Amino acid sequence: MDKAFFIDMTKCTACRGCQVACKQWHKLPAEKTVNVGSHQNPQDLSFNTYKLVRFTEKVIDGKINWLFFPEQCRHCDDPPCKMVGDDMDESAILIDPHTGAVIFTEKTKNLYYEDIRGACPYDIPRVDEESRIIAKCDMCIDRVHNGLKPACVQSCPTGTMNFGNRDDMMELAKKSLAKAKKKFPNAELVDAEYVRVIYLTAQPPSDYYSFLSADAGDYAPVTRKEMFAKLTRPFKKMTG
Ligand code: SF4
Ligand code: SF4
Ligand code: SF4
Repeated sequence: MDKAFFIDMTKCTACRGCQVACKQWHKLPAEKTVNVGSHQNPQDLSFNTYKLVRFTEKVIDGKINWLFFPEQCRHCDDPPCKMVGDDMDESAILIDPHTGAVIFTEKTKNLYYEDIRGACPYDIPRVDEESRIIAKCDMCIDRVHNGLKPACVQSCPTGTMNFGNRDDMMELAKKSLAKAKKKFPNAELVDAEYVRVIYLTAQPPSDYYSFLSADAGDYAPVTRKEMFAKLTRPFKKMTG
């Protein structure tokens, strides 16, 4: 059964339970960090950090707002990372037929990292400089195949993170959007037609982080979203 996440960012308190749970389940080491005057910690995704809660301070209607973005791979419907990777080694990036999860194997060391990262509209893949293996969120595929929720979803205390059958998640996303719109008129579902990780934002995605949406903005000759649309086929069930 096709699976998906629904992540309701109007509920996120930035407790980082999801970030820690991801590390624990995958036995990933902590990052050495320095204080840069932000509560975000660490500052970026890495080979050892698949899930990162990003913090942004934004003035909205004259008031400082903290915007929290629990970032991870979107498990794209037709993933550009795999399309590019397949040209080098077709067995390096796989799609799990039971869930749709996009899985990076150890054979990613055979791929050109810069090309794989550059192909991702969300800037997700990260490399281990020594082994040259590329890593990212794997949808906790071992847990999901055994009937468990992903570790990040299991740990979330606020109802921000949800996981289940794709149709159910889309239904929940649409209902949550209608509710959120009453309080946040700019609320939107980000790129829902292309991905298996559907974010509901209270503010425009670019207020949180430049790679939250596949839209690169006006400065690019072709936006990431336009490139993505050319590379991928829309998921009709999700758009209704
Ligand atoms: Fe690949 Fe990036 Fe899509 Fe994840 S978000 S499946 S890394 S293209
Ligand atoms: Fe980490 Fe698993 Fe959540 Fe992906 S699904 S971010 S691997 S805990
Ligand atoms: Fe936000 Fe839930 Fe992650 Fe806490 S566990 S940071 S509330 S998504």
